[in-house]
Amino acid sequence: MYDCERIGRRNTVSKGNNIYVTRPFLPPLEELIPSLDRIWHSRDLTNGGVFHQKFEDALACYLGVPYVSLFANATLALVTALQCLRVSGEVITTPYSFVATAHSLLWNGIEPVFVDIDPKTLALDVSQVEAAIGPRTTAIMPVHVYGRPADVEGIKRVADKYGLKVIYDAAHAFGARYRDQSLTAYGDLSVLSFHATKVFNTFEGGAIVCGDAKTKRRVDFLKNFGFADEVSVVAAGINGKMNEFQAALGLVQLKHINECIAKRASIASRYDEVFSKTKGVAVLEMPEDYLPNFSYYPIFVGKKYPIGRDVLYARLQEAGIFGRRYFYPLISDFPMYRDRPSAAKELLPVAQRVANAVICLPIYPELTDEDQQRVIDVVLEGS
Ligand SMILES: *Cc1c(COP(=O)(O)O)cnc(C)c1O
Repeated sequence: MYDCERIGRRNTVSKGNNIYVTRPFLPPLEELIPSLDRIWHSRDLTNGGVFHQKFEDALACYLGVPYVSLFANATLALVTALQCLRVSGEVITTPYSFVATAHSLLWNGIEPVFVDIDPKTLALDVSQVEAAIGPRTTAIMPVHVYGRPADVEGIKRVADKYGLKVIYDAAHAFGARYRDQSLTAYGDLSVLSFHATKVFNTFEGGAIVCGDAKTKRRVDFLKNFGFADEVSVVAAGINGKMNEFQAALGLVQLKHINECIAKRASIASRYDEVFSKTKGVAVLEMPEDYLPNFSYYPIFVGKKYPIGRDVLYARLQEAGIFGRRYFYPLISDFPMYRDRPSAAKELLPVAQRVANAVICLPIYPELTDEDQQRVIDVVLEGS
């Protein structure tokens, strides 16, 4: 027999004074209770209930986009987005992202073709995209890295010229705006993540943003096994639905998101103040016409930083500070990708350089001034 109490204790690791790259924001529990009460009484747990409907509408309104379709997570949403647009053959994508971007292609039997990134946007270098287009290319899958805009106009120009679809991995981009609209408004489809580590969370969750009702209908079929009604299955769909608990939480989280982003902004500005003057450390410049969500705070440790990136990373950990090297290693260096011709290191020099320099420092609404100072002190000590 298992000693459950002992197992429970063993799994409760003390986190002490550790500082992590993020700490998920949660609303006061009281704010969620009335919704939970309603779910418990109605027994409507999933399959597009009241909260699902309300949360889709509230998100479309908050983001200022025509249609939102909720998902259990962003990876399923990416897989479904590719199905929705019947993408096949080859897709041009970035090596500088979380593995789910390229994995969603492999899960659809699509060949990823990696193209290097632009040192300013850290997203696809549009000037290199055209050369990577072949007879089997059907789409481009760029990423809005750290919630900052990819070259959306440049990508649209190339996509239109060659008749390619554009699906943005906008997992980082919740609440970020570019040229007066949500970043999720760009591309044929755009995919958000509400994972615990993201700016806006529903524990796990995601969404596809689209511009027309017909596409939204197809996405909705596809995320529910392809059911159009009780007896008609119109496509080989998957189960990607968001449940009522996640949707109810999302509605409450939405009330706090602006305040969360504002707190992140003040933390980012304190880091900016220090690190813009730190030798060997580079920080990102703000693009024009851009309203950030401050989802990450990356620093790029260069040759002039005496101890180098990896020693700094280790020193931070010794001090109980757990930054993350988003994104290192590159997707193209993982075993299931590295043998492809487009994954060759010498073809991706900017992505390699950035991946070898980056550390994302802790940033989250509840990060205290004292804890932020601990992070700053360790970075300055090594400079
Ligand atoms: C988090 C993330 C994903 C995956 O999101 P999930 O909701 O965890 O499936 C995909 N792409 C990028 C760039 C991410 O950061």
